[in-house]
Amino acid sequence: MGTQITRLTRLAAAGLSAVLLFATTACAATSPAETEPDNKTSVPAPTGPINVVASLNQWGSLAAELGGDDVEVTSIVNSTNVDAHDFEPKTSDVAKLSKAQIIVANGAGYDSWATKSMTKTTNIVSAASVMGAVEGDNPHLWFSKDARSSMATAITDAYIKALPSKKKAFQKRLKAWQADEKSLETWASEFTKSHSNLTYAATEPVVYYLMADLGFKDQTPKGYTQSTASGGEPAPADLQSFQKLIEDKGVDVLVNNTQEASDATNMITGAAGRADVPVVDVSEQMPKDADTLNAWINQLINTIIDAVDPSYGCEDATDGDTADSNANSDDSSAEGSATDDANAQGSKASTGSSTEPKYIRQCKAAASSDSSQDSAKADAANGDPGDASGNDQTDSGK
Ligand SMILES: [Zn+2]
Repeated sequence: MGTQITRLTRLAAAGLSAVLLFATTACAATSPAETEPDNKTSVPAPTGPINVVASLNQWGSLAAELGGDDVEVTSIVNSTNVDAHDFEPKTSDVAKLSKAQIIVANGAGYDSWATKSMTKTTNIVSAASVMGAVEGDNPHLWFSKDARSSMATAITDAYIKALPSKKKAFQKRLKAWQADEKSLETWASEFTKSHSNLTYAATEPVVYYLMADLGFKDQTPKGYTQSTASGGEPAPADLQSFQKLIEDKGVDVLVNNTQEASDATNMITGAAGRADVPVVDVSEQMPKDADTLNAWINQLINTIIDAVDPSYGCEDATDGDTADSNANSDDSSAEGSATDDANAQGSKASTGSSTEPKYIRQCKAAASSDSSQDSAKADAANGDPGDASGNDQTDSGK
């Protein structure tokens, strides 16, 4: 754990200097635009849309949100059914990448195929470069709030450089996104403040940064994490200590990466089922039903909260107090038509209700309507009479 904290701190520090470095170059890059009116006879200014190719759909989604109509984004890895760590691009994928004006990549060894054969003129925005992460660091950077924010700024800077005439539109979209990100982070940190000492274990360290952002302590046996991180099979002894940890209910939640399932992970989730340790399923890539990167993160945080404290944030749901306070923070932070842009991007998400704030607690506990403080325990209690009548196998067998 100590080394992980050190690494995270080092990453954050490195990320900051990388951002500063980027900001300096970005400032320098804007100066040609200022001289533009003087040479009308030179090369015509680009009109867009910018051809953007993202290696992964989660970064592609952010790129699309920030670019609006001024960009055309294609994502190469676009499914939660592929082995992302061992992905091999098709010839057509490589062709798309070679024609891109801007490539949005993750880096840190996760998608090295995306930047391998690039020409020197291709503009690459990479999360690992922005954050100062290198191969060997946890590569799942999209789950880090710092990486998301730094990437949003870096992508916008690249857009402005490629299409200076739309600078204001890009800046407006970034501002709207930052307001949304801030409301998501505030909402998440409120949960963290009232929930200290939460622990988890993971079948693969995919949501490491998100769990760290939420204040969860990683209790996964170190040997197990090391072997999965390097793509190897866990040693039997590590697998055993993982199973024991779950059987002893040594963690509040088990995070299961459905995109990297194996016999070993099936054994661990099976143990969690028997020991009644809640399991949260996550994927590497953004699932089809998520509209934006942050809507996906929101959905994941909700699932995690449902697993460890189902009634959290649901007490006031009926009178709308919680929803109102979130809506107000959204209104004050997003200005003018920037909100319209953001809403347009997430139009599918807002079909439920127009008054619904974008990032909120969707209460599972409230939906069950019993308004019980411990709905999970109540369910378990309801199952007891079943045990007496010999139905006990139906639940645990799942
Ligand atoms: Zn992974």
